[in-house]
Amino acid sequence: MRVGVGYDSHQFGDGGPMRLGGVDIPAEFHCAGHSDGDAVCHAVTDALLGACALGDIGALFPDTDPANKGKDSVVMLEAAVDRVWAAGYAVGNVDITVVTEWPKVGPHREAIRARLASALRTTAERVFIKGKTNERMGWIGRGEGLAVLCTATVVRR
Ligand code: MG
Repeated sequence: MRVGVGYDSHQFGDGGPMRLGGVDIPAEFHCAGHSDGDAVCHAVTDALLGACALGDIGALFPDTDPANKGKDSVVMLEAAVDRVWAAGYAVGNVDITVVTEWPKVGPHREAIRARLASALRTTAERVFIKGKTNERMGWIGRGEGLAVLCTATVVRR
């Protein structure tokens, strides 16, 4: 078994919806970014690539490449899972924490778990996501953006 850690943060931009974990959440703002801004998928992608020492999302999908503009981050995650499998591993589990004042993650948890499980070629039982506020401190507390942490394990196939 191997373990990887992923982190991502995105600034908010005006207008929704907010895409997190491949799910569109109704909101008045979204995560700005070169791709679709899905910070959950980005953190999970980095955790899996790190677990297998396969590089990082920036190396796989450079934000200088116009082809990655507005890209569906689930597609990037699936490409990372392809590499994990090619290296002889499968996803063990992923555990995700979203640090944000808004939106609440809980009401969307099951939808995100199901969407990610499909992309990760595993079951929702092996995927978890939870939200934490930053107790109104700092840039997250001011609602300027959000941060995502992910721990992932991979196991020999
Ligand atoms: Mg990102």
